[in-house]
Amino acid sequence: MLNRLIIASNNAHKISELKSILSDRFDEILSVKDAGIDVEPEETGVTFEENSLIKAQCVKNLKNDCAVIADDSGLMVDALDGAPGVYSARFAGECCNDEANNSKLLALMDGVTDRSAKYVAVVTLIDKDGKIYTGKGEVKGVILNEYQGKGGFGYDPLFLCNELNKTFAEVTADEKNSVSHRARAIKDLLNNLRNA
Ligand code: IMP
Repeated sequence: MLNRLIIASNNAHKISELKSILSDRFDEILSVKDAGIDVEPEETGVTFEENSLIKAQCVKNLKNDCAVIADDSGLMVDALDGAPGVYSARFAGECCNDEANNSKLLALMDGVTDRSAKYVAVVTLIDKDGKIYTGKGEVKGVILNEYQGKGGFGYDPLFLCNELNKTFAEVTADEKNSVSHRARAIKDLLNNLRNA
């Protein structure tokens, strides 16, 4: 039987990042859309852990014979007491976009000297048999005063990664995967799976 994984996300960037990191672990990796599932679970949790479980469980309830992975991630800015955090996708309002979120961040950070921040990701995998595994990853950086780079998504043009000394909008997918919060969360998850 095929070892099939469904990624509980509609975010094309996240799907391609997760696929490239997990491709050698599963026979087939499908996005929810590829699997013919049309759901948008409400992210009612107040932690990354809660929201990633909500997303994974929602898809698992519909596709019980497959493994399901979901992530929840966001940007935490020290000077903003960890905001936007779990509200990163809807920082500027329910129906906002990356540009609106980035503009709000730039406005709030105007004149702020402590610009330290981190991306955080939590992944939750529910295996075929319903066992739940999680992993967490972080990557530290600083929030710039202006956009730098054209790639990536979300807050990437404003997030200068300490380890790469470039924004996530200036690096290749492989470079980002070498340090990213999501890649680290998956590494942590795989570790937890091995030790289970
Ligand atoms: P989620 O889809 O509910 O996990 O929301 C994650 C949000 O956090 C995204 O919409 C982005 O705003 C932000 N985010 C998380 N990871 C990244 C990243 O790798 N680059 C840029 N923004 C990110």
